[in-house]
Amino acid sequence: MTNVTDPVPHRRSERSAHYNSARGNQVKKRIYLSLGSNIGDRAKNLRSGIEQLGDLGTVVSVSSIYETEPVEVTGQQPWFLNCAVAIESELMPRQFLSRALWVERALGRRRSGTRSPRTLDVDILLFGDSVIQTAELTVPHPGLAHRRFVLEPLAEIAPEVRHPLLDLSVRQMLEQLPSNAGAVRRWKEE
Ligand code: AMP
Repeated sequence: MTNVTDPVPHRRSERSAHYNSARGNQVKKRIYLSLGSNIGDRAKNLRSGIEQLGDLGTVVSVSSIYETEPVEVTGQQPWFLNCAVAIESELMPRQFLSRALWVERALGRRRSGTRSPRTLDVDILLFGDSVIQTAELTVPHPGLAHRRFVLEPLAEIAPEVRHPLLDLSVRQMLEQLPSNAGAVRRWKEE
């Protein structure tokens, strides 16, 4: 069963992202995603992914692209390109996840293992201020608070957004990271 709770009151800045749509009672939520690619034309994979994720709602901001050292992966792997994306969507979390996974597959992802190289990986970091714990979906994403490759791009577009369980802002989570949390640098197209 999906357990969606709302443990903290909406702050003023967050409240603006929650409103009833003109078409009914669906609530539009702001969703933060982390996208990563370390196979093929990595930047093209990210851009195509963002374009296709536009079908799930309205893309409201996209961070710069960062080149990041592989962490939490098996064996030697190419460096990743990562970015963060904010989308406003009326989809329910489960629908959103299944459509995001569809976008990964459309970009050619083959699931040969959870920590294997990938053309496109889409992680749901935050879904409004929902807390979700099901077999298929954990939100906030469990890696959010300790992954520099997630927090650096996210801090660019949402530094003051807060983790609903830790009650820390993205900026604070980034400041608390140990220095050995993996190299992350701005990427420039050659
Ligand atoms: P991976 O892409 O290898 O990191 O794993 C993807 C799987 O993790 C998906 O099939 C989801 O069911 C599951 N999952 C659990 N929580 C999340 C989340 N917050 N965002 C994306 N996938 C998630």
